[in-house]
Amino acid sequence: PRLLIPVESTPGETRVAATPDTVKKFLSFGCDVSVERGAGTTSGYLDQAYADQGAQLIDPGDAAGWSQADIFLCVQPPSAASLARLRQGALVVGLLSPYANEELTASLKRGALSAMALELLPRISRAQSADALSSQANIAGYKSVLLASAALDRYFPMLMTAAGTVQPAKVVILGAGVAGLQAVATARRLGAVVYVSDIRPAVKEQVESLGARFIEPPKLEDKPAESGGYAKQASDAFLAAQRQQLSDQLAEADVAICTAQVPGRRAPRLISEDMLDRMRPGAVVVDLAVAQGGNCADTVPGQTVDRNGVKLIGGNDLPCTVPNHASALYARNLVALLEPTLKDGDLKLDLEDELIAGCLVAQDGNILRGDVLTPGA
Ligand code: NAD
Repeated sequence: PRLLIPVESTPGETRVAATPDTVKKFLSFGCDVSVERGAGTTSGYLDQAYADQGAQLIDPGDAAGWSQADIFLCVQPPSAASLARLRQGALVVGLLSPYANEELTASLKRGALSAMALELLPRISRAQSADALSSQANIAGYKSVLLASAALDRYFPMLMTAAGTVQPAKVVILGAGVAGLQAVATARRLGAVVYVSDIRPAVKEQVESLGARFIEPPKLEDKPAESGGYAKQASDAFLAAQRQQLSDQLAEADVAICTAQVPGRRAPRLISEDMLDRMRPGAVVVDLAVAQGGNCADTVPGQTVDRNGVKLIGGNDLPCTVPNHASALYARNLVALLEPTLKDGDLKLDLEDELIAGCLVAQDGNILRGDVLTPGA
């Protein structure tokens, strides 16, 4: 099969779906690879490096190049007009934002396309090397703490200086999934005192092993459980109790890092206007859930808002600010996902394999995961 690696078309997207290293891998599996000129420029991978590994360079949007592709590897989904240029039966693989995505559904049907949405990869051990949500969340968690430390008007570590002792920064981290745990580790490395809130009981031990303190979730009868390793949506009453509990913690915090999410749902609102009113001027909030509606009031995607001296950073695109490593890890995720499907120079999608069955949202235009793409339809 022939793979196509496009220049990403989403504004602000700096990553690329293949690196020269992963091109080499795909060639060793018996694939041909076309790379649009400039595809790796924003992430530090030069056209020549792809060509040196054996990729064929094509002009962006080259009609023949697109219509000959069997597998289209992207970070974010291309526009409907772009998808229409792929041949029938071509496979699109990427972070396709599948949840209730009518435009994507229509494009897949119209073009008789197949598609794998990496967001839907099951969270099982065997899937870890292909887990793009994790590789990218890890980067977001790391970078969120660096942004917070750069914006904060204080030191992170405790310091004993000739001018006296400086107390360590207090960092509150909301949500301890992949991004949150990396934020804990990064803040601890910088010397902060770290408190963590999550609603999955399994998290307590992980948080404590990283040297942070766990804030026990409110005890309510309808305490949300988890399914498939993910949190379930919490009730309004639970969230209200949780906000009350967090309000005192945040009033003493220098930094809050918000990473709490529930897949396919609006992010839980954990920091209200009232709670922001109690934070000290100079404190910093980084909201990684801002594009899903935000854990914190008043955060805006991609912007820093000054709210009475509290800096609110909308951290929706942090992996794009570390594009070289973000791309390298993402590209390796794609190799891990596709290698088992590329036997003997052919693409074979085994629907008995739970990894494939989980993320293959459509095959030749037939919608297989209508439960996700068109819920309620
Ligand atoms: P996520 O991005 O969906 O959510 C981030 C965190 O927010 C989760 O820990 C969740 O419990 C938490 N959260 C939700 N509502 C909250 C609330 N009201 N208050 C506080 N916290 C709240 O999660 P993720 O980072 O994608 O990871 C989810 C789980 O999957 C984790 O347990 C992770 O370790 C696991 N995981 C497993 C694998 C694997 O085995 N292949 C790979 C990656 C992650």
